Amino acid sequence: KRTPLIAGNWKMNFDHLQAIAFVQKLAWSLKDAQHNYGEVEVAVFPPFTDLRSVQTLLAADKLAVALGAQDVSPHAAGAYTGDISAAMLSKLDVRYIIVGHSERRGGHGESDETVGLKARAAVTAGMVPVICVGETAEDLEAHGAAAIPVQQLQAALSQLPAEAEFVVAYEPVWAIGSGDPATPAQAEEVGKALRDVLRAERGDAVADATRILYGGSVASQNVASYLKQPNLDGALVGGASLKVDEFSRIAQFT
Ligand code: 13P
Repeated sequence: KRTPLIAGNWKMNFDHLQAIAFVQKLAWSLKDAQHNYGEVEVAVFPPFTDLRSVQTLLAADKLAVALGAQDVSPHAAGAYTGDISAAMLSKLDVRYIIVGHSERRGGHGESDETVGLKARAAVTAGMVPVICVGETAEDLEAHGAAAIPVQQLQAALSQLPAEAEFVVAYEPVWAIGSGDPATPAQAEEVGKALRDVLRAERGDAVADATRILYGGSVASQNVASYLKQPNLDGALVGGASLKVDEFSRIAQFT
């Protein structure tokens, strides 16, 4: 049985003061709702500049919200101006690191190989990469939904050690920020194809334990329909993760 993961990718939103206020409210809201942390894991992915503040708050108040980062350098250390290493993130109690988000593949020219090396850097430093895969509208037209995500996952896996723990996030690029999510059946079809890749490449234990998230215009009204699918184990939420009440409802699947 896989513990569902509800992950809020804030993207480039909230300074560190806004971040603290948000996480405090989120924790209260989940507590009020008697959110069952044992059954659902909630994680937030603030910008790098907020991580230290959020870490301090989570530790001081013993809040059951996991901390994630939105990216990581593939390199361990050295002359890489502007980059942030996995070791630095690990020191901040970061547990999850998003790699290969379409906004980085597209906007920053990240190749499959770079994404795989980033995932490997996260694993090497003891963290869990959230490997994002997804097809553009053109890919969908030309190859169907699953072909590109499958290829992207295979490429990332080729860089990961056999014992690595990781999460997969299926985010069709056309569904991100569009208000036009994939239908649960469409998302499940790709989720199934991705789990078949895990089974073929890593065996039953990894395929059965690894969480596959759906992302792309997830909201409180549609989240439950994805979580019902046999091969979907959570959500990677963008815009709706910036509103406390809405994200709290998503974390409760209501
Ligand atoms: P939206 O939820 O805003 O569509 O963004 C999804 C996303 O890109 C999460 O990583």
